Amino acid sequence: MREMTAVQEIQPVGSDFNLDDYDNMVGTMDWEKVKEHFTWHKTGKVNMVHEAIDRHVEEGKGNKTAFIFEDTERSESYTFEELKTLTCRFANGLKKKGVQKGDRVFIFMPRSPELYIAMIGILRIGAIAGPMFEAFMEEAVRERLSDSGAKAVVTVPELYERIPVNDLPNLEFIVLANTEETTDEKQILFSDLMSHSDDYVMEWVDREDGMLLIYTSGSTGKPKGVLQVHDAMIHQYIGGKWVYDLKEDDVFWCTADPGWVTGTSAGMWSPWLNGVTNVLRGGRFDAKEWLSTLEKYKVTVWFSAPTAFRLLMGQSDDLIKTYDLSHLRHVLSAGEPLNPEVVRWGQETLQLRIHDNWWMTETGAPICANFRSLPIRPGSMGKPLPGIELSIIDDDGNELPPLQMGNLAIKPKWPAMIRTVWNNPERYEQYFFNGWFVTGDSAYKDEDGYFWFEGRVDDVINTSGERVGPFEVESKLVEHPAVAEAGVIGVPDSVRGEVIKAFITLRDGYKESEELLEDIREHVKTKLAAHAAPRIFEIRDSIPKTRSGKIMRRVLKAWELGLPTGDLSTMEDN
Ligand code: ATP
Ligand code: MG
Repeated sequence: MREMTAVQEIQPVGSDFNLDDYDNMVGTMDWEKVKEHFTWHKTGKVNMVHEAIDRHVEEGKGNKTAFIFEDTERSESYTFEELKTLTCRFANGLKKKGVQKGDRVFIFMPRSPELYIAMIGILRIGAIAGPMFEAFMEEAVRERLSDSGAKAVVTVPELYERIPVNDLPNLEFIVLANTEETTDEKQILFSDLMSHSDDYVMEWVDREDGMLLIYTSGSTGKPKGVLQVHDAMIHQYIGGKWVYDLKEDDVFWCTADPGWVTGTSAGMWSPWLNGVTNVLRGGRFDAKEWLSTLEKYKVTVWFSAPTAFRLLMGQSDDLIKTYDLSHLRHVLSAGEPLNPEVVRWGQETLQLRIHDNWWMTETGAPICANFRSLPIRPGSMGKPLPGIELSIIDDDGNELPPLQMGNLAIKPKWPAMIRTVWNNPERYEQYFFNGWFVTGDSAYKDEDGYFWFEGRVDDVINTSGERVGPFEVESKLVEHPAVAEAGVIGVPDSVRGEVIKAFITLRDGYKESEELLEDIREHVKTKLAAHAAPRIFEIRDSIPKTRSGKIMRRVLKAWELGLPTGDLSTMEDN
């Protein structure tokens, strides 16, 4: 049982938001009613691409900027009209090569306009797109392409070598972008594919037809192939409205790579379903470049991840103040728990609340969020979206009362929900228990209905009979001025069951010493709890993370115990 501690709420500022009446919405929200927004309500003909792109052209907004792309080499912008034409071309090219509805076409390339054109072109003909992160090495690429039985891959010459073409019997051809030369008969040029026809093409599909095949981040083990269907648009549209607070004149930027669920759901569909101009940026985190993108494009709504906010926090306030961020009005974070310290930093430095929201690849869109119109309790992931039944259940599948820690579970089904684990229906069935979708995360709900994340169920530490969530300890650790990042695990101990070990990286200017570690331990002891203070520390240059920025505690644990580290395909290079 948790003690309710006094939390300092951060009040909403000047909400012009349409979810003011949260409690009432919870009672009345009906996903089926949302479909009235979509043209298929009248026509019965469904395709994400129509609602996200073509529709705006039909409604006279063809000249509006759909996206601005920027990286260190390119800076380009595309209207909805241009995007419609280009993606029709790509779709025609694919059709000519024999790609049909339901076929899997994967994308394996760095972020570029061509990546987004390809993705939309694939969906336009009813095929299923499989976005793959550019950093995957051969083994990871092989697994995903073979598991999905992909018929084609869109890639660039630099990455082509990592595709084991001859080991993939289903792979018929490879589209090469960024070059005018082929080196193998199975290759075809992006530019050739685009040259066939401008004709309008649209394959109308069923709401339940497959749209994207997204592999999970691999934080806890082998990535699972999550199938998302066109019906997800209902949820992604609402997520854009209620969680990202998107309005017609916004300029939205979600920093996630399309290889992860956030990069498509929030990075493409939510803004476009809401007709909003989207900034797409290539490359990894770079404080100056990112701040200058916010400034240059007058970004109004920004969605990033805790790791990026922590890295920004490590920069001097003076640096941040040299950028004009006055257009920024709404900031979001997801993917990992957002430390209260980061929320406080956002208040002080950006003068904005950072709105944490919780979801997973399998949920396809946000499930629980800090809404603009509600007070934020720093450290909490907020309240469920109206229309979502979120609860805490015990190991027997019974719902628990407030303040009791247990399994975070969702009542199926919701529109963006996973429809199957590709090639593995048994794994899909394992998500469900006693009528609930069990997330694998551990959390509790407070008496006012805010949800608080504890950790992955497998990461929760048991020390001297006390349950300790690694996130709480990590959050206290990063509050200490010397600590930049922290990953916490339980290490088996004959007396206490487990003891807490913290892997930390130090901020510039700090050196490892007994006194410093004692000071950090004392900080956790006095600010959190004596039993939660790490007994063992290890200082490292970096903490193992997935490329989407999640701390890989299972890797820390395997190192600690001298066990095999398992699938590392999604781990960031250090
Ligand atoms: P795998 O399922 O392959 O082990 P993964 O669970 O990291 O990898 P994702 O689907 O990308 O793959 O991530 C979902 C998980 O991320 C959630 O289960 C949760 O643990 C974590 N997460 C996402 N958003 C938040 C958040 N706002 N607060 C806390 N945790 C979050
Ligand atoms: Mg997961």
